[in-house]
Amino acid sequence: MRIQVYDSMSRRVVPFEPRDPGKVGIYCCGMTVYNFAHIGNMRTIIWFDLIRRYLSYRGYDVTFVMNYTDVDDKIIERAKIEGLSPDEVTVKYERAFEEDLAGLGGGQPDVVPRATTHIDEMIDAISGLVDKGVAYPAEGNVWFAVENFAGYGKLSGRSLDDMRAGERVEPHPGKRHPLDFSLWKAAKEGEPAWGSPWGPGRPGWHIECSVMSDKYLGMGFDIHGGGSDLIFPHHENEIAQAEALAGTEPFARYWLHAGMVQMDAEKMSKSLGNVALAREVLQRYRGEAVRYWMLQGSYRSQVVFSEAALDDAEQSYERWRTFISSARHALGELPSGPTQRPVDSPLPDGDDATAVRAFVGAMDDDFNSAEAFAAIHELVRQGNRRLPDAQAGVAGAREALAADVTAFTELTGVLGFSFPEHEATGSELVGGLIEYLLERRERARANKDFAEADEIRTKLTELGVAIEDTPVGARWRISAPSH
Ligand SMILES: [Zn+2]
Repeated sequence: MRIQVYDSMSRRVVPFEPRDPGKVGIYCCGMTVYNFAHIGNMRTIIWFDLIRRYLSYRGYDVTFVMNYTDVDDKIIERAKIEGLSPDEVTVKYERAFEEDLAGLGGGQPDVVPRATTHIDEMIDAISGLVDKGVAYPAEGNVWFAVENFAGYGKLSGRSLDDMRAGERVEPHPGKRHPLDFSLWKAAKEGEPAWGSPWGPGRPGWHIECSVMSDKYLGMGFDIHGGGSDLIFPHHENEIAQAEALAGTEPFARYWLHAGMVQMDAEKMSKSLGNVALAREVLQRYRGEAVRYWMLQGSYRSQVVFSEAALDDAEQSYERWRTFISSARHALGELPSGPTQRPVDSPLPDGDDATAVRAFVGAMDDDFNSAEAFAAIHELVRQGNRRLPDAQAGVAGAREALAADVTAFTELTGVLGFSFPEHEATGSELVGGLIEYLLERRERARANKDFAEADEIRTKLTELGVAIEDTPVGARWRISAPSH
């Protein structure tokens, strides 16, 4: 069994062979932290989180790097709008992003480099490019000369002439070719700036990813990921910078691009205004259901965001939960399977490993999650058929069900789902909190702190909790909010 991936550079499915046997380095372009993440950004990141998990499951020692772009025009704009400093803006939205990521069951990357803590390395890289004659300073800016890098356009598959015709390019004083892009921007009044050989300024966007991926993973690392909207110009520019500087290729061995999330047939992007923020979606759907929706189709596919699609995902996920809670009831406790299936070890060949073989076969094939999810649903159908006999104690039925459950927890675990026995539902949590507040009220009354006791009652009433004092203590029920 061999893993293969669709490589955007060669535009075909190719065998996956890491640079260093047994190890995989992944760099995924992360967030520009100037706003809450929209559902499309998060889908890309959750997908690369899954690719990392899956390659770990297949026995690789994976290093996953995802950056924060924390210096950018949009951050400076946002700081003005919110009356904050650019640093406060980036801290605010980094925290928000981490909450959303955790809400979707995404793991922290191994390395999370920030552009602003790599300014010296970027200045060194830009100086190197100027020395090699592929970049030139002009009026406090530094530009990359696209005509001086022979491979420019190889990722997006376009010639300079095509690009020139297709892109709206801002003229800029001192720029020699319309497609030359910015490596260093001269400081403007009131903006964050760092000293450099070309005067005070800040780096352009593209250079950070070339520099930080090289620093943490080294030239020729395995997988460079991101949304397909980054192919041009961002990833094209990353390649030009890194390969021109190193004088070797490739910058990255495989380019994997996630499809965009569309809403009402328009690509979702913050500038369009029809945004579904990840956190808005997470207020209405449980994180596991949103994760299910994000991962159920190929990472490369374009997906349409709709309530109907999320409702479907929630129902499908509920089928898994129902199965596992029935199985837990029948078996008492849930067996768990291995957490790794290394590529160089054969898969088990018994009947009870059919689902594992189907799942691994699908995921090895460019992470074909649609087939992988289908294998799990087939397993659940089989397990559900076995439930009545297992509950009735028919010989062999419990063992067969246990084998299904073992495979189920193994495979859903790879996808980042877990099914804990005790899971506080929203209503259990609310009930517990109300009971706790009523106890506090009792104690306040016992201490003759009637102001405190009344305040608790008033607050709960405002929130729509009706309280009735009875000889055996307070009873409560949820009524409509009073305002
Ligand atoms: Zn990037």
